[in-house]
Amino acid sequence: MIFQRLADQLAEIERRGLRRRRVARESPQGSRIVVNGREYLAFCSNDYLGLANHPRIVEAAIDAALRHGVGEGASHLLSGHSVVHERLEAKLSKFVEMPRALLFSSGYQANIGAITALAGPEDAIFSDALNHASLIDGVRLSRARVVRYPHVDLEFLERALADSRARTRLVVTDGVFSMDGDIAPLPVMLDLCDRHDAWLLVDDAHGFGVIGPEGRGSPAYFGLRSPRIVYVGTLGKAAGVAGAFVAGASEVVETVLQRARAYIYTTASPALLAAAVEASLQLIQEEEWRRERVRQLIGELKQALRGTDVVLALSYTPIQPVIIGGNGEAVSASAALRERGILVPAIRPPTVPEGTARLRISLSAAHSEQDVARLAAALREVCPSNAAAHA
Ligand SMILES: *Cc1c(COP(=O)(O)O)cnc(C)c1O
Repeated sequence: MIFQRLADQLAEIERRGLRRRRVARESPQGSRIVVNGREYLAFCSNDYLGLANHPRIVEAAIDAALRHGVGEGASHLLSGHSVVHERLEAKLSKFVEMPRALLFSSGYQANIGAITALAGPEDAIFSDALNHASLIDGVRLSRARVVRYPHVDLEFLERALADSRARTRLVVTDGVFSMDGDIAPLPVMLDLCDRHDAWLLVDDAHGFGVIGPEGRGSPAYFGLRSPRIVYVGTLGKAAGVAGAFVAGASEVVETVLQRARAYIYTTASPALLAAAVEASLQLIQEEEWRRERVRQLIGELKQALRGTDVVLALSYTPIQPVIIGGNGEAVSASAALRERGILVPAIRPPTVPEGTARLRISLSAAHSEQDVARLAAALREVCPSNAAAHA
């Protein structure tokens, strides 16, 4: 019986065009990746700055492995915390211009940890409808009352904040929305949080390293500094390594350290990764050309598709979605690109709202102008016209 139930559920996933399949990559991450012995031009990673296989970062990891070993053997609060973690936390907090930072093994854990540490059953959380799944799960685990506001509907948010009598109010948002590429209107949101005494948690998985001066992220992009901001940066995307951190006021970070079960009850991530992130952080700061290249490629892609039947969503970040609508059509377009040697993932519900299946193009500093021209030409061949949807 229980086996039949799983089989039925899986058949239903297949029938609805929602079955997901993994492909095993044979090469490092980069603008060209090898799958089943074939090389593809890839627009399917979050390695926005092309750092995932950078020799200086690889070397830093190797060197740290030789000096510190590969495993930490315990959680941070027991004996797993090393001087390498400590030093990276100091550098990250300085980089994002916040008093303190705390490392996590992943962004998923950092979001769950920060949210559950800051809000509990007597509190209220205000969450954008397009927030990342890890924020949604953190909100659920916190057992706080949740107000889910329509995507960047700040009037709705303001009313909800004004109506709330909760002990603590916490607004949570992606800094750069992961499937649309738009940037949250943080200045107005911070102003609302000031007026209604709320925390503003910004999940900057796609902003850290990518936007703002020297890649300092979305609050810096707007020139914002406030003790109300709880910043979550992730280190597996633009930084090209793995992990995440929560930064903010000292009391906030100390609270997360003391209370977050996702921090306390897990083994510290290897110091060799922290050393790799340290090397990456230096490249993020020093090599402005990487962000400049990405900006230029965004312009090239928009230019190449202007006036065609393939309409990009409005985004100024390396995430450039082509909203197609139906699951089947999005999957077919992705498959047709793959036949042409180009990888662009089809993103379907529940990752995006029903009826908004899309191709999610991610540009990287590792791409060239020719790569983008080739992508644009292929998109024009394989995409059903989505112009009507944007008219
Ligand atoms: C990828 C992502 C995360 C999770 O980060 P990981 O380090 O991959 O666990 C969190 N939030 C957003 C918006 C993301 O895109």
